Amino acid sequence: MIDIRSLTYEELIEQVIGMGEKPYRARQLYEWLHVHTKASYDEMTNLSRSFKEKLASECEMTTLRAEVRQRSKEDGTCKYLFRLSDNHMVESVLMRHDYGITACISSQVGCRMGCRFCASGIGGRIRNLLPGEMLEQIYAMRRDLLAEKKGDEEPRIDHVVIMGTGEPLDNFKNLLTFLNIITSDRGQNLSIRNITVSTCGIVPRIYELADLKLGLTLALSLHASSQEKREKLMPIASTYPLDEVMEACDYYFEMTGRRMSYEYSLIAGVNDGDEDVDGLLGLLAGKNAHLNLIPINPISERDYEPPDMKAARDFQHKLEKNGINVTIRRSMGADIDGACGQLRRHYDVKL
Ligand code: SAH
Repeated sequence: MIDIRSLTYEELIEQVIGMGEKPYRARQLYEWLHVHTKASYDEMTNLSRSFKEKLASECEMTTLRAEVRQRSKEDGTCKYLFRLSDNHMVESVLMRHDYGITACISSQVGCRMGCRFCASGIGGRIRNLLPGEMLEQIYAMRRDLLAEKKGDEEPRIDHVVIMGTGEPLDNFKNLLTFLNIITSDRGQNLSIRNITVSTCGIVPRIYELADLKLGLTLALSLHASSQEKREKLMPIASTYPLDEVMEACDYYFEMTGRRMSYEYSLIAGVNDGDEDVDGLLGLLAGKNAHLNLIPINPISERDYEPPDMKAARDFQHKLEKNGINVTIRRSMGADIDGACGQLRRHYDVKL
């Protein structure tokens, strides 16, 4: 069955015409789905009962409900575990920054990339998420914000990072449809500049994305500065070697003018030494790029530990001294279930 929330505006017009309705019904329906982010047809008051019945019988409408919702007392970060219609679970996070509200969403159930330090890949990839399931993570969190709102001001999720479970470039077609809908001026009208897609480095997809010139920020999960070390941490590096990945990232910057972002999870004794500083300088010196250091979140399945804060700061300063634009990512929601993919795993294990 078609998922109505996964259709672009143009596809929705065709769908609605195919159901014997006037095209303007698509405009109304799209607005209910993507501006008002409604969770049921009942609330779509300007659509006829017969049209809504037809919709309900012929189309699905992805609607996520939170199975678990953990709110950090420290910074208001909210971590969600959503149940999908086939009972699989996905994780999403809502973060409050001084520049606005950011949603971190998942792109797949599980992941097949198998990065050694990541909890999301441990059970492999189960399936891709539909565009509607990616959107609904944002919409369901928005409905929560609306329910809590005080005063007249509409809460707005204005930044999206696709850094939850899954490899977004391994679900490329659905990712593009998601981007089309979330940035549509008939929907949430999110600025593409406020969207970050994080990838482990699927080279052909980086080129395709660059050629589309969408203007989003691309974050590359680097995690090591030599091919040998990177391969040990990230199996995908055997398919797409580091030099090819770096070339693809340079191409992305050339084509889009968007500064690349590199992510580097610091693991004590593994990738936090002086030779790693030198390696990073070799890769990034002189580039218009941003490097984000993330002290690794330990997961119970592996014995990787983060360096202490002083060592992390030293690592940062050595890079900074050599002109690298580098920050240490502030850990948000430290008092709620930590690392990527862990909430889903803990929950699955408990089941
Ligand atoms: N598949 C995408 C998105 C993954 S999650 C990618 O590989 O980029 C976003 C970031 O979190 C990635 O850089 C990922 O490598 C990193 N990450 C995964 N597990 C982590 C952990 N336990 N601690 C710190 N960072 C982690």
